[in-house]
Amino acid sequence: SLSDKLQNVFKKLKGKGRLTEADVKAALKEVKMALLEADVNFKVVKQFTKSVEERAVGTDVMNSLTPGQMVIKIVNEEMIKLMGSETTTLELNPRNELTIIMMAGLQGAGKTTTIAKLAGQLKVKNYSPLLVACDVYRPAAIKQLQINGEKQGVPVFSMGDGHSPVNIAKAAVEHAQKNGQNLILIDTAGRLHIDENMMDELTAIKEAVPVKQTLLVVDAMTGQDAVNVASTFNEKVGVDGIIITKMDGDTRGGAALSIRAVTGKPILYVGMGEKLSDLEQFYPDRMASRILGMGDILSLIDKVQAEVDEEKARDMERKLRKADFDFNDFLDQFAQLRKMGNIGDLMGMIPGMGSKMKGMEMPDDKSIKRIESIILSMTAQERSHPDIINPSRKRRIAAGAGVEVAEVNRLMKQFDQSKKMMKQMSGMMGKKSKRGLFN
Ligand code: GDP
Ligand code: MG
Repeated sequence: SLSDKLQNVFKKLKGKGRLTEADVKAALKEVKMALLEADVNFKVVKQFTKSVEERAVGTDVMNSLTPGQMVIKIVNEEMIKLMGSETTTLELNPRNELTIIMMAGLQGAGKTTTIAKLAGQLKVKNYSPLLVACDVYRPAAIKQLQINGEKQGVPVFSMGDGHSPVNIAKAAVEHAQKNGQNLILIDTAGRLHIDENMMDELTAIKEAVPVKQTLLVVDAMTGQDAVNVASTFNEKVGVDGIIITKMDGDTRGGAALSIRAVTGKPILYVGMGEKLSDLEQFYPDRMASRILGMGDILSLIDKVQAEVDEEKARDMERKLRKADFDFNDFLDQFAQLRKMGNIGDLMGMIPGMGSKMKGMEMPDDKSIKRIESIILSMTAQERSHPDIINPSRKRRIAAGAGVEVAEVNRLMKQFDQSKKMMKQMSGMMGKKSKRGLFN
């Protein structure tokens, strides 16, 4: 499986310290092969390995992690990003309005089964669903929906096979409104392959009734085909979200990894079995960890990360308490802040801090460079004991950095302000969050 292959790749990364370009390149070559074998779209693989490489080369391996584990950490994070980072939930209208959901997909993808699964979940959330049988080409399809509806205790609307899907959908809306149902789930016909008639029919239904969400159901086992199907459906019919079924039988994860990146549409649910309870919300982080099959290592990495963050935060806090925050830390913090962007934006995200800090801006890149050059003109002693910087030292520093003394004065003032600010922040770090603000 993909996870076995990746495990082997990462085991080969030996030694400590910084990840070298050669190591990372060699490992990623094999990662690439493993992903392609897992039927991940080749463009996605290319982009993916590029981002991992960019992040991994030159990265310091965290204490208590092996280089292999360090690369796994990065691969895991990039996989989560690839699958959309956040969980996307199904969009529904308020319960006092009718929501229409249409299922689309090839024959055998799992539409009829998934509709019943979804109806069951939404019924529990106080929706009143009506299943609508618009697959009129196979009599067995209507029967299947009825059986599933009965199992879930959800009514099914059907008109037999003598009517067009469009007319059935319209009649179903009337029926739902008469009977106080606020959720219509339309089961549609699939074909074995993508064909124009199928697309036209779906589009016609969308034009006839106000479909809130068109959900595409694809079979995980079909790998890259699922991705191609999704692209085509999205182009021709328009898709709002994707459901990947039969994830219980697919350990490769090719479809899950590629589909979001290729279509730009979120995966909402995954089907994990034939039972009507086997439908799960899609969590990119859980899926990544499943695909990597490295639950143990990933939880170790989480633990290490938390320890490192806490250690850094504690260290900074201790420094501030003792007031030995110095110009070396200032340089460090600058580097961190520069990575994060505008400090005003950052403060705005902290509850209660937004208004207080408004209007405070970080110097731009150019002035940061000037500030850095001033700090670099200081002696080691001056950097760690800013108190000793008297007027004559200031003149020497200014000359060394090629700036006016006034600029050195400005920096000294800024440093004091910053120190105060850091103190405030460190107080908040302790109270509000375990993770350091700068990690
Ligand atoms: P449709 O043609 O798109 O309506 O597909 P169906 O709902 O009839 O499903 C086709 C087959 O796939 C059925 O045998 C289902 O039981 C099976 N199936 C659907 N979803 C899943 C799933 O998540 N896991 C597994 N193992 N089987 C599934
Ligand atoms: Mg069906």
